[in-house]
Amino acid sequence: NMINNNTPTAELQKLDAAHHFHPFTDKAGLAKKGARVILRGEGCWLTDSEGHRILDGMAGLWCVNIGYGRRELGEVAARQMMELPYYNTFFQTTHVPAIALAAKLAELAPGDLNHVFFAGSGSEANDTNIRLVRRYWQVKGQPERRILIARWNGYHGSTMGGGSLGGMKPIHAHGGRIDGVEHIGQPYWWGEGGDMSEDEFGLMRARELEEKILELGADKVAAFIGEPVQGAGGVIIPPKTYWPEIQRICRKYGILLIADEVITGFGRTGNWFGSQTFGITPDIMTIAKGLSSGYAPIGGSIISDEVAEVVGSGGDFNHGYTYSGHPVAAAVALENLRILQDENIVEHAANVAHPYLAERWAKLADHPLVGEAKLVGLMGSIVLTPNKARRARFASEEGTVGLRARERCFANDLIMRHVGDRMIISPPLVITPAEIDVLIDRATKSLDECY
Ligand code: PLP
Repeated sequence: NMINNNTPTAELQKLDAAHHFHPFTDKAGLAKKGARVILRGEGCWLTDSEGHRILDGMAGLWCVNIGYGRRELGEVAARQMMELPYYNTFFQTTHVPAIALAAKLAELAPGDLNHVFFAGSGSEANDTNIRLVRRYWQVKGQPERRILIARWNGYHGSTMGGGSLGGMKPIHAHGGRIDGVEHIGQPYWWGEGGDMSEDEFGLMRARELEEKILELGADKVAAFIGEPVQGAGGVIIPPKTYWPEIQRICRKYGILLIADEVITGFGRTGNWFGSQTFGITPDIMTIAKGLSSGYAPIGGSIISDEVAEVVGSGGDFNHGYTYSGHPVAAAVALENLRILQDENIVEHAANVAHPYLAERWAKLADHPLVGEAKLVGLMGSIVLTPNKARRARFASEEGTVGLRARERCFANDLIMRHVGDRMIISPPLVITPAEIDVLIDRATKSLDECY
């Protein structure tokens, strides 16, 4: 029980394997290798227990937008803990951090997205959204409108609600999924577009929404949910025809549009929200991750005037979490937003992404293993292929070349993730041109080593 940063790595790994059950991990497999122990972070850099300096090309799990090591957030958290560490917002009470953060989010969010329901994470916020849109239609006198339509290979969290909205079959396979959720195809041109142009394919995939609505009956459908850019699915940047058509179809049938901005929110795509980058005005936005830059667990739903008015006119909304609007998490998020704004970090992200990173990223497509290299803001992906002219896929997507490339990156002190045959980046938004050079050098070296 005297474990600290100086405990030998092997001992830490042994205790980790004995007592810590990791998310999305093969427990027995990890026990054989031992997990890498991360001790501290500064800017875009991590230090592990063996003294390696690792460039974090994923900003943790797409969340440390302002970078590691910002003392201001720790100071705000300590002050708030001593002033009021906790109070609930359920029964006719509120507190200053929740009020201030909700008002700030209403100011930052586009259009009439003016109301915030807080949660502890992105998954919880999407569970809120399921109840919220079903309640909306109940209050409007159409309780049979309760189906949500989402996309195959989308990711919306791993609670039963979030995991069901998500279209990841390996998650559905472990424990099933809730009823009243339907899936349509993803706008993944490189993998699924065949001979169509990107624009034609984007329209075709968007029109699957209309087909699904007509198949189910519009009077049964409550909402459509999608990530502006599928993140965990492999950073799949949709053709430009896709989102305007999705929005047109939602409006035509009066279906609520939920943009899951858990990754794309707070600067990731070069604007405050991905909805702005792709020109849509959702009725609800899911937020988490970059909201606090991961310094405290917090998520939420930003809700339009109209949806809030309807649900708000129906008496009690029977939903909430002990930690909805947690004062310490809210104070930390507010300080994070202040830093993003005062230091023009969203503008920095846009400017460093285009052209500096974009030019270097595009050159990766010259590598013999790389089929396409795409980027929006500071969110990028490459696809690994045995034959780029034919847009060929490796026989087994999982566990082969993508995994090998990820392991080479890991060995070269660069964190890049792989999703099947796609390699992805999502670095802290404060990344500099010099750090981008390191990222590209290490990624290229790693690709060379698995060719
Ligand atoms: N929605 C999206 C788009 C995500 O990428 C994630 C997490 O990666 C979630 C929801 C779930 O968020 P959390 O892990 O905070 O529950």
